[in-house]
Amino acid sequence: MATVKHKILVLSGKGGVGKSTFSAQLSFALADMNYQVGLLDIDICGPSNPKMLGLEGQEIHQSNLGWSPVYVESNLGVMSIGFMLPDPDEAVIWRGPRKNGIIKQFLKDVYWGELDFLVVDAPPGTSDEHISIVQFLQATGIDGAIIVTTPQQVSLIDVRKEVNFCKKVGIQVLGVVENMSGLSQYLADFKFTKPTETGEHSDITEWALEYMRANAPELLNLVACTEVFDSSGGGATRMCREMGVPFLGKVPLDPQLCKAAEEGRSCFFDQKCRVSAPALYSIIKKL
Ligand code: ADP
Repeated sequence: MATVKHKILVLSGKGGVGKSTFSAQLSFALADMNYQVGLLDIDICGPSNPKMLGLEGQEIHQSNLGWSPVYVESNLGVMSIGFMLPDPDEAVIWRGPRKNGIIKQFLKDVYWGELDFLVVDAPPGTSDEHISIVQFLQATGIDGAIIVTTPQQVSLIDVRKEVNFCKKVGIQVLGVVENMSGLSQYLADFKFTKPTETGEHSDITEWALEYMRANAPELLNLVACTEVFDSSGGGATRMCREMGVPFLGKVPLDPQLCKAAEEGRSCFFDQKCRVSAPALYSIIKKL
């Protein structure tokens, strides 16, 4: 770990808020900026990074230097327990000490080489994995943690616990990302339907797009936003103000970002991710 310049933890209070998606896209972005990047997945029971980095089915190899991460490109290596499971559907049912052991091995026995950034994708909450990673990394220093949340109170309540965990163990909160912050889509990317009398919906997308093209083409460049999750409590912005931690920005719910994650791709060169990619990029540039 002494050869790693910056270590960043990515945390969340709840599962499913987009922590792994953010970790994966952060790693892609840093690698695009020509940094040497390692992504360490310590979500032992639910490793999603192999899929999100397009590395499903790959295995790790051992050399005389240690375990070798699986590389997306020469400057982006990934380590995850997902590469070690004989069957991807296999459940990892381990108690704390065993999880602790594998995390220690990921840090000690993996030959990461010289890294500019090690991004650590942690499981949700504050449990064994978090205590282990903090214990192991603190000796050589952790730059800080990024916390990912969705806008509604149910998620933010748990983020407050995450912030307090960081304060207790002495890790700087680099900032909070509000993900899935409204469903934003260009009108040109919508599917339009018309409810029929029987309650079914018939697809009228082609007609609607043609109508707009002919009568008001400027509409196709508008983005429609639906607040899927309730943010009337002020969302992450207010929580950050109250807790005294930086707010990094909002990333909208974007079906194209979900698709990029499913296919294990970076969203940054995907023309279709035109709503989410700029939002993610502006957050990453703040770090
Ligand atoms: P977590 O790591 O917090 O459990 P994931 O990153 O696995 O969450 O995200 C859960 C699902 O939501 C994934 O299918 C992911 O692709 C999708 N997702 C995450 N963020 C977004 C977003 N901003 N827009 C659309 N889908 C998203």
